[in-house]
Amino acid sequence: MRAGQATTAVIGGGLHGLACALALVQRGQDVVLFERSWIGRRASSATAAGVRTLWRDPAEISLSLEALERWYRMDALVGDDCGFRAGGQIKVAESHAEMEALAARFAQMRELGFHHEELIDARELRRLAPMISEHCVGGLIARRDGAADPHRTIAAFRRAVEGHGAVIREGIAVMALEPAVGGWRVVTDAGSWTVRHVVNAAGAWGAQVCRMVGEVIQFGYKASMVFVTERVEQAFRPVFSTVGRSLSFKQSSQGTLVVGGGIQGGGDLEKGLTQVDFRALAKGAAAAQELFPAIRNVQIVRAWTGLEGKTPDLLPVIGPSARASGVFHIFGFSGHGFELVPLVGEIVADCITYGRSRYDIGSFDVARLLT
Ligand SMILES: Cc1cc2nc3c(=O)[nH]c(=O)nc-3n(C[C@H](O)[C@H](O)[C@H](O)COP(=O)(O)OP(=O)(O)OC[C@H]3O[C@@H](n4cnc5c(N)ncnc54)[C@H](O)[C@@H]3O)c2cc1C
Repeated sequence: MRAGQATTAVIGGGLHGLACALALVQRGQDVVLFERSWIGRRASSATAAGVRTLWRDPAEISLSLEALERWYRMDALVGDDCGFRAGGQIKVAESHAEMEALAARFAQMRELGFHHEELIDARELRRLAPMISEHCVGGLIARRDGAADPHRTIAAFRRAVEGHGAVIREGIAVMALEPAVGGWRVVTDAGSWTVRHVVNAAGAWGAQVCRMVGEVIQFGYKASMVFVTERVEQAFRPVFSTVGRSLSFKQSSQGTLVVGGGIQGGGDLEKGLTQVDFRALAKGAAAAQELFPAIRNVQIVRAWTGLEGKTPDLLPVIGPSARASGVFHIFGFSGHGFELVPLVGEIVADCITYGRSRYDIGSFDVARLLT
């Protein structure tokens, strides 16, 4: 690769930027990836790393099922299983009214032709989680779902990307994109690069990159929190969420309990700062205790907040720019993009290389968000 020139520049060194860079170098492209801070610094390391097809928007289900198959073959893609453990994901009903909501969802899935979600009664729920509170009446399970280790995933993707010869530039921010002969000039705070294609994988800052090419979109962000407890004896394998609360609850392979699921902290996108909100954290801890009373005396040892882009329909932006030829987007996963990592980069790499993807990505078109 000549200095200052590449076939494709990827903006953002989170998991989606890395996965797309990997798919592109595997197709023989010269790729340079710019990351403002360091690889995996943002949502990709803050994540609770749930690998979930359960309870997805119908528009995302086909992609998430295909991505799940790749989690089972992760070793072949990046030389590591990324700590993926398939213990299932369960949406728990805490009342009969919630159980009815799960039954309605189950019927909707069958109508749409999806069979990955299964209703379970209180007995099966207790078999899978003997310590769950007596008041829980059943659930909806996706048995092949699970969770992975985000740091191992980042390290594995990075090794694979660099191993295939892509250039990673950390500590470099992309400031502007200017049309150039045959492509784009990527103006960074450390010089310019000329490229044919640009991939916007800038996460919560994805709309800022859109603006660089004249696309103004409706876009917000979430500042989701996760907290982790001390290690306790291994007690269960599934990841739990609930119908009526913002809660996800799992036990890591090291024995720590990891609680997240959308409890919100504070964040400032411009300054790149995040804050733990201790009141919200206490609410999340209380909800976890109500679901699993036995954890009452377990100590919380760490908590953090991560920034993630959020679209009005909570679906990501995947595919070509609506206004700028040669620019492609992968951002706005609205809190559930980790599971899609092994697939979406490849979809965008196909759009760049062959002009189309074999997957239906119409629902993720950036045009739906243009103001
Ligand atoms: C607390 C939390 C819990 C989550 N839990 C789950 C879960 O259980 N399951 C699930 O599926 N998903 C989960 N998610 C969502 C998932 O983690 C994200 O969807 C995914 O990591 C997004 O990856 P990304 O590469 O798009 O973004 P990021 O990892 O945020 O990467 C974007 C990168 O772009 C860089 N960047 C931005 N602008 C520029 C610029 N101008 N120049 C250079 N670099 C730039 C940023 O510094 C950043 O590193 C969670 C998210 C959070 C925050």
